[in-house]
Amino acid sequence: MNQINKSIGCNVTECKYHAQNEPYCSLDRIDVTHHEEPARTKESTDCHSFEPKR
Ligand code: SF4
Repeated sequence: MNQINKSIGCNVTECKYHAQNEPYCSLDRIDVTHHEEPARTKESTDCHSFEPKR
């Protein structure tokens, strides 16, 4: 498995970059975006680095 990045907490275990056994991402960096403008709530934002597990 890739290195755990404890600077990026994440609970999206459906993502192929999730550390699985711990609530972290394994990428060095992620891209975050908004899917509605202006973003006013947490739900308006998304991890744009997400990739589904096969
Ligand atoms: S890429 Fe995004 S969704 Fe996937 S584990 Fe990392 S932070 Fe979570």
